[in-house]
Amino acid sequence: MKAFFHDRQWVHDPKHFMANGALKPNPEQPERIARLTAGAEAAGCTFETPRDAGMGPIAAIHTAEYLTFLENIYTRWRRIEGAGEEVIPNIHPANRTDSYPKSAVGQAGYHQADTACPIAKGTWEAAYWSAQTAVAGAESLLDGTRAAYSLSRPPGHHAFGDLAGGFCFLNNSAIAAQHLLAAGHRPAILDVDVHHGNGTQGIFYERGDVLTVSLHAHPERFYPFFWGHAQERGAGAGLGANLNIPLARGTGDDDFLVALAVAHQRIRAFGCTALVVALGLDAFIDDPFKGLAITTPGFARIGEAIAGLGLPTLFVQEGGYLCDALGDNLTSVLSGFQNA
Ligand code: ZN
Repeated sequence: MKAFFHDRQWVHDPKHFMANGALKPNPEQPERIARLTAGAEAAGCTFETPRDAGMGPIAAIHTAEYLTFLENIYTRWRRIEGAGEEVIPNIHPANRTDSYPKSAVGQAGYHQADTACPIAKGTWEAAYWSAQTAVAGAESLLDGTRAAYSLSRPPGHHAFGDLAGGFCFLNNSAIAAQHLLAAGHRPAILDVDVHHGNGTQGIFYERGDVLTVSLHAHPERFYPFFWGHAQERGAGAGLGANLNIPLARGTGDDDFLVALAVAHQRIRAFGCTALVVALGLDAFIDDPFKGLAITTPGFARIGEAIAGLGLPTLFVQEGGYLCDALGDNLTSVLSGFQNA
């Protein structure tokens, strides 16, 4: 399987992450790249460096205002006397329709949904190349490849059109899907990360041209809390083009596959011609987030089931955090898909 990664994705090295009021080490570590690269190679992937497709594919999803913010905020932040080493907001608008301030602190609150998306020196550069990696994967499908893997990191599915959140800055899966749509495809995004793909849902919520489906730990008691409930079905032209399948905490392989069959039914009914899999590996039983209980062989069954759709498929890396089996779980999904 073709795979894509750019070395400049290493330069995002977030230090902090606030959880339950405590400052903790950020789990979205560059070391993930080494584990995931090894896992993909063990499944027979050969990596290529993505070309620079420029801002066009990114700006097709994200607002120019937000992109300007992301590119410049770290430099602006450094000019604030006594500022911390990373851009982390301390105030948020009550409504996103509230006024847009000139202040770096105010804009950080506007464009960062939570304290889990700190912006440092290399963040923009790494996020930019993470998105280009997804675009290159989409282009390989357009060239006729049956399947490809984009090692996009930082991840993307919590990023909205103008809002970072949950380790995510640019929505790589959405950018890839939009790129396929622009080339005449009718794409679906299938999100199997343990967390609901709230940014992806938000981007396409009122659109009927991209189907968004997410399987995830139930948000009643799990991040991102405010999105991912079953009653969120899309709106306007997008009504019925968003499917959320929240799962009980600790759901294992068998029940996950039953839910995946429901997702597949919707993808088929949509008349989908290309599939983007938002491939989080954090549904793993020993992932630090402990939301679901997928096993390493279970990931192979998921890959095999996805292959059953018979669609050109792009796997875009989302979450999945440092644990002994992180690389093996990626090997398992990709091998399961290829061996189906
Ligand atoms: Zn996740």
